[in-house]
Amino acid sequence: MNYLKSADPEIEKLIKQESIRQKEGLEMIPSENYVSPAVLQAMGSILTNKYSEGYPRKRYYGGNDNIDEIELLAQTRAKKLFNVAHVNVQPYSGSPANLAVYMATCSPGDPVMGLNLPDGGHLTHGWKVSFTGIYYKSHPYHVKKDGRVDFDEVWKLAKKYKPKLIWAGATAYVYQYEFDKFAEIADSIGAYFAADIAHTAGLVIAGAHIDPSKYAHIITTTTHKTLRGPRGGMIMVTKKGLKKDPELAQKIDRAVFPGLQGGPHDHTTAAIAVALKEAGKPSFKKYAKQIVKNSKALAKQLIKNGFRLVGSGSENHLCLIDLVPNFGPGGGFFLQYALDHAGITLNKNTIPREPASPFYPSGVRLGTPTLTTRGMKEKEMKKIADWIWQVAQIIANNSLPENKEKRIAYLKNFRRETNKNKELSKIKNQIKRFASSYPIFAW
Ligand SMILES: *Cc1c(COP(=O)(O)O)cnc(C)c1O
Repeated sequence: MNYLKSADPEIEKLIKQESIRQKEGLEMIPSENYVSPAVLQAMGSILTNKYSEGYPRKRYYGGNDNIDEIELLAQTRAKKLFNVAHVNVQPYSGSPANLAVYMATCSPGDPVMGLNLPDGGHLTHGWKVSFTGIYYKSHPYHVKKDGRVDFDEVWKLAKKYKPKLIWAGATAYVYQYEFDKFAEIADSIGAYFAADIAHTAGLVIAGAHIDPSKYAHIITTTTHKTLRGPRGGMIMVTKKGLKKDPELAQKIDRAVFPGLQGGPHDHTTAAIAVALKEAGKPSFKKYAKQIVKNSKALAKQLIKNGFRLVGSGSENHLCLIDLVPNFGPGGGFFLQYALDHAGITLNKNTIPREPASPFYPSGVRLGTPTLTTRGMKEKEMKKIADWIWQVAQIIANNSLPENKEKRIAYLKNFRRETNKNKELSKIKNQIKRFASSYPIFAW
């Protein structure tokens, strides 16, 4: 019985259309993934009916025996996989998880440090329009021309401003995060060191990325990126964190509830537990290692075709193409739009020392977690890199006008021309055939 179809045919139809889009296209946004049917089933369960403010065995509502067991299972699995002393699985997503870290470790106005947003950092690491940049004194660090964190600058800023909290982690960074270097700096000034592995959690537990558990006091993550679970967040406190501050686990728990949130999303907690169980299997390790192999293969072929890549490659799950040689500054939109039209989804992104602006950035960011979930390997990455190059050639003669009015008219025309481009439609058909032959639930 299709309950949704009879109750709300409009929404049912849109979900069906989206499901077709997800099957027929190639999803290359590096923060996305496809969850398993088991995760979906837990997500779509009657657990959404329950209120359970508080923590296992310490709830403000009755009827929580089953919910307690679910949350405890999620905690136990996370602790084992990430090798940490304490975990909170209640944050609604990655951003609220990070807010709770500020609340647990800082007072409003305290100095903090994180990677600058246009350099690949996340909003919640102190960017000026984020709560975190408004209510705390943010001293962002940057990357060097090759895209790697400038550790000389991190040292300098840390000594000068004595931040209470230092973040490592990013949304657009092609190297592994050097947690050891951050730890040395944070320890030298007595700061809390938080590793935000939102993007790389899956790689970390598979041994395909440096493990932060020895270095950081706190680890935050989303559960829906490389970890391949439902949309959610987790905050972990390491043994090192408890040694620095024996109260840290309680401070984090109190910051999440009652500090920032009300009742936890129990259906999400259950789906997180399922995802963590899946991530504990040998097949997940293989999966996460293949993500990195695929990213390297993709980078290699993109470069071979003629693209310039930030850092000349990839050490994790994503690549950043610097499109200045193709379109001049601000050309990320052209390739994002044309590829979207051809069936490849990725996002425009700033590059180190961005010569244009965050809204009209000069690069695109693309990754392999979703393609790898569908069972694709190096051979397929090569093919996809070739399509991306072909699309870039089709729109090669574009550049972004500096004049604002001209720009709007130019982009309007670009969209119109792209929408009716026959060569792009041909590639779209090829990609549709190709993508449809790889199942979404492939593992
Ligand atoms: C995605 C991401 C987050 C935030 O996650 P949301 O679930 O979108 O709130 C936080 N930090 C980093 C580094 C991320 O990449």
